Amino acid sequence: MPTASGAHALVRRSHEERVLRILQQSGALSRGEIAERVGLSRTTVSEITGDLLERGAITVVDTDAAGRTGSGRPAERLALDPGSGQFMGVDFGHRRVHVAVADAAHEVVATGTARYPESARWPQRLTAAFELIERLSAETGVHYGALQAIAVGVPGWGNRLPADGVADTFAMRFGAPVTVDNHVRYAGLAEAAHSAADSAQNLIYLRLSDGVGGSLVVGGRLVRGAGGHAGEFGHVTVAGEDGALCRCGKRGCVETIASVPAVLARCRALGVPLDSLDDLRAAVAIAQPTVDRVLREAGTAVGRVLGAAAMTLNPSEIVLGGEIVQIAPTLLHQVASTITYELSWLPDAAPVVRAASLADSGGALGAITALFHDSPLLASYPAAPDPSRPAVKERHVHPIPAPARGTRWPS
Ligand SMILES: [Zn+2]
Repeated sequence: MPTASGAHALVRRSHEERVLRILQQSGALSRGEIAERVGLSRTTVSEITGDLLERGAITVVDTDAAGRTGSGRPAERLALDPGSGQFMGVDFGHRRVHVAVADAAHEVVATGTARYPESARWPQRLTAAFELIERLSAETGVHYGALQAIAVGVPGWGNRLPADGVADTFAMRFGAPVTVDNHVRYAGLAEAAHSAADSAQNLIYLRLSDGVGGSLVVGGRLVRGAGGHAGEFGHVTVAGEDGALCRCGKRGCVETIASVPAVLARCRALGVPLDSLDDLRAAVAIAQPTVDRVLREAGTAVGRVLGAAAMTLNPSEIVLGGEIVQIAPTLLHQVASTITYELSWLPDAAPVVRAASLADSGGALGAITALFHDSPLLASYPAAPDPSRPAVKERHVHPIPAPARGTRWPS
């Protein structure tokens, strides 16, 4: 049973949502017009709009003096203020950090990248990120004064990452709630939100890099699973007992066949001395037959796992990320043809299989999309997308009131 004050807060929030929604739909309105349209008393609307104005979620744009015929004081007109809310997405990679900032109308207002050596530790990475964020402010005039929430993508998960430390450092610096998640997961969400098919509601994303990570978007939402491990396709066993030992402790995982180090090691084992992606690029350019075979083997393993996942989830798109996918088209072709074979008995289930379209910016944009989705006020607003706006924006929503400082978003 909710307590009396809890119930009051729920009613209050519901009223706020109705007011914000009508402003989203109608543009600027007077308090009287709002009261009429949402069916609340003028007193209640005055209270709610007063609070929303104070919190910066809405703004006074003008008065109705111009269109007014009668006498009396002109009424103020209120509207959503796109500048009233900012959302920051941060994507830490192994060698660079990317930051994007969007306003409450989902417009990206600042974006940039800073690099650091792969050996850099977290304090150095965080410093690079904060310097970048300050530089973006100086360049664009965005002052983060209305920052509603921050989502930070980091590589991998588990003990190797000071996820709480990263969250606390951002929270202390900006006084906004912070979510930390795997950056591959955010990249998958961004691919769904920015899909050429407007937005892909059901999508599987796999990134082939130093490791192999994945991400699931179902019904337009990022799937985290019970313990935050959904989409770990890299550790599906594909080679069995005689497979190579994986860093997870098992043998024959996808990662032991299709990660970049695994592909390079397999080429070396077959007598082709490749040490880097540049070496691989050169070998692909001359269509080196052994390298082609290794890439096809990797593509087949990945395609089988993704084919099984596609039978489970019936996605409209399967997206492959990672530099190796750009360098070696054979890999993507083999994945696609294997998936086509796996699903050949279900022809109308065949997903589009494509390379990732967002390079560096994907993780940061996906982090912002996750914030929009996770916001309790925004979550219930499946408003029609505005075709005049480019996508960060799976949905066009209103600014939200500032949550209590220190609150964590549900993860
Ligand atoms: Zn493994």
